[in-house]
Amino acid sequence: GNWVYTFGDGKAEGEAGMKNLLGGKGANLAEMSNLGLPVPPGFTITTEVCTWYYDHDKSFPPELDGQARAALAEMARLTGKVFGDPENPLLVSVRSGARASMPGMMDTVLNLGLNDVTVEAVSKASGDARFAWDSYRRFITMYSNVVLDVDHGHFEEALEDYKERKGHHLDTDLSADDWKVLVGKYKEIVRKALGTEFPQDPEQQLWGAVGAVFSSWMNARAIKYRELNNIPAAWGTAVNVQSMVFGNMGETSATGVAFTRNPSTGENALYGEFLINAQGEDVVAGIRTPQDITEAARKEAGSDKPSMEKEMPEAYAELVRIYGVLEKHYRDMQDMEFTIQEGKLWMLQTRSGKRTAKAALRIAVELAQEGLISEEEAVGRIEPGALDQLLHPMIDPKAERRILTTGLPASPGAAAGEIVFNSDDAEAAKKAGRKVILVRVETSPEDIHGMHAAEGILTTRGGMTSHAAVVARGMGKPCVSGAGQIRVDYAKGTLTVGVTTLKAGDFITIDGAAGQVLLGEIKMQQPELSGEFGTLMGWADKVRRLKVRANAETPEDARTARDFGAEGIGLCRTEHMFFDEDRIQPMREMILAHDDAGRRAALAKLLPMQRQDFVSLFTIMQGLPVTIRLLDPPLHEFLPHGEAEIAAVAKALGVTPEALKHRATELHEFNPMLGFRGVRLAIAYPEIAEMQARAIFEAAVIAARETGKAVIPEVMVPLVMGVPEFDLVKARIDAMAKAVMAESKVELSYQVGTMIELPRACLRAEEIAKTAEFFSFGTNDLTQTTLGISRDDASSFLGSYTAKGILANDPFVTIDQEGVGELVKLAAERGRKARPDIKLGICGEHGGDPASIGFCESVGLDYVSCSPFRVPIARLAAAQAAL
Ligand code: PEP
Ligand code: MG
Repeated sequence: GNWVYTFGDGKAEGEAGMKNLLGGKGANLAEMSNLGLPVPPGFTITTEVCTWYYDHDKSFPPELDGQARAALAEMARLTGKVFGDPENPLLVSVRSGARASMPGMMDTVLNLGLNDVTVEAVSKASGDARFAWDSYRRFITMYSNVVLDVDHGHFEEALEDYKERKGHHLDTDLSADDWKVLVGKYKEIVRKALGTEFPQDPEQQLWGAVGAVFSSWMNARAIKYRELNNIPAAWGTAVNVQSMVFGNMGETSATGVAFTRNPSTGENALYGEFLINAQGEDVVAGIRTPQDITEAARKEAGSDKPSMEKEMPEAYAELVRIYGVLEKHYRDMQDMEFTIQEGKLWMLQTRSGKRTAKAALRIAVELAQEGLISEEEAVGRIEPGALDQLLHPMIDPKAERRILTTGLPASPGAAAGEIVFNSDDAEAAKKAGRKVILVRVETSPEDIHGMHAAEGILTTRGGMTSHAAVVARGMGKPCVSGAGQIRVDYAKGTLTVGVTTLKAGDFITIDGAAGQVLLGEIKMQQPELSGEFGTLMGWADKVRRLKVRANAETPEDARTARDFGAEGIGLCRTEHMFFDEDRIQPMREMILAHDDAGRRAALAKLLPMQRQDFVSLFTIMQGLPVTIRLLDPPLHEFLPHGEAEIAAVAKALGVTPEALKHRATELHEFNPMLGFRGVRLAIAYPEIAEMQARAIFEAAVIAARETGKAVIPEVMVPLVMGVPEFDLVKARIDAMAKAVMAESKVELSYQVGTMIELPRACLRAEEIAKTAEFFSFGTNDLTQTTLGISRDDASSFLGSYTAKGILANDPFVTIDQEGVGELVKLAAERGRKARPDIKLGICGEHGGDPASIGFCESVGLDYVSCSPFRVPIARLAAAQAAL
């Protein structure tokens, strides 16, 4: 096989497309050579050799030696120097280079080929004995550490000892003779540690280094890094052997790194640092403070060290020329490494540079505006999830994080505030102008006002679709849920993690994107939306097919959703409207009523309020579709819980506390999520659905008159399992529509459809679609009922499932395509069979998850609906799904 690919002098055997074989670094060195850029000649030993090495007891393929020799001969022809030659030696670097960048994870050896003889030749040829001996001691240190496994601490100690004895402070104070003495000491260290001499034979050195780089593929650091970044061990690494160029040959030599655009802001300006008279490692090691590359950056930083632009104008001009070539060629921002040897600039690496979300956006938009990439490509280049960073406050990246504990990253953004343990305290604190984090074991609809008042929410129980998570995302507030190591003691007003106890009033910070709970009040960065954001979203909208709606019920959420570009409301959860102070009382009266008449009397009080809710929503949405779901949760959620509260509520309602408790006991269920909820409420108490339907239709009449736009409400029935339930409720809704039309003398268009959130509904979809005019997949409940995993209790064990690879993702975050996805697909097909133009949407939390949106596109749904703050993410993900 061909195990070796050469590069240098304007040509190469490889090219950028061969990353799998040559690794990222090798492929790009080849590409730069092909572009005619100054690359020190060398060769890449392929990733296949790495595989071979591990398959054959850490040995090399037999042909490798000959191929490497031929490549070294080619390097000799190009450089005029010969590897291992005592008079005119070629020195090389040996570096790893995997397919995916794994910064700092694997090993590198520089200055290889030096020994007691060649060091003298280098000294003579360079006319710089100090440089030669300094290079040799660097080589011994690196090689011993990387290949021979001798602790580099020994060398550092010897160096420090020596400097102290000689009264030197800096390495640069040492002369050629000093280094020569130290080289002797270093070799002594190796002899002592290994019982053998430091290898003098350059070939032995080379193969030792190559083997060490391959071995470093399996070091603990690299294994951990691959695990965290999903890089398969089977990929292996390549090894690049390249002729050395020296940045440490005096004041006309230097080494540096540069980005073609600013990686934190995206500004189109060369950005980077360099060090005069240094080798690459010195920049990374941070021993000396690097200098700026451009004058502009130097001025901005207020540095008094001259810039490269000033100090080395010719090399700078060459770097500018090369970066132009590279950006045009790669059509992306590049991260480059270079070395200047006696005034001549050499390129050692280029790759697409890592960048912040903000920079990614600006770079993609500007590259498209410069004509380097198309608008579609720009859309494809932004990871939708990264937009979260731009839409929410974040913790100042420079701030120190003292992590108390972690939970699930339930809702992105960060917030700091005093701990409060209940929603009333949260509200009171907010009124007093204080910022709070609401800490609860879990939240329920009763906590909505507290969640509104709080800066962020922290719960100790509950998964990614628990009440706290869903509501917080809807509000755009940071939330960490399921932080199971926290013990909350409501009575004492404390929370405890291990030995740390915090009390109400203590400050904490939560990072909802990382799922971290941090001690103290940490500095934040506020989001700012740039013009590029709007531009890119506009391009995304041009390519996407899926519509994007929002899950919203309050006017505030609806407005946020509109501002973020939502094309309607896909889910208005009406239960959230019944917890406000003026509503909860008639709601409770309704629940406590003994008969129809009592219920109707209470519902009559709710009707005008509910109608006003819908008028607001319809008005804000200006004729865009609004899907309103009938009451869904079990009724006991609306009843008070604590003794004191029960007493107060009983008094207000004019009933005995016993009567209230009795009703609560009646409504108690062992498994309320599978209990008396959803359409079952409408079946048992049709008057509730009727009140809601009346409120919807009357509101539609009013809003149509006020806005002058046609309002076409979509009435949605939750948790349906088959046709009979749905048809019964639909008949009531239709009758109510008729009644309202007759009363108002206004002709109304409306639709009645259903949530599809039970497996049985998926199976019966064809039948259901005969009368249902739309389906909205409630993938939260559908996941819960398909996997048989409670969405509120999943956090305690799901972690081990994802960690052990039993589940690839949290199925409440990313749709389980093989299970839940199959049911969605089947229901979509069956539904379309009965009603070809049936409107299909998704309103579970998956509607805002980029991977799940890709799935929705593939099944051909009409829209996704997600929390308002995820709307931009969904728009971008939908566009990428269509590309
Ligand atoms: C669902 O089940 O996916 C859904 C959207 O409804 P909820 O989360 O309100 O149960
Ligand atoms: Mg549901």
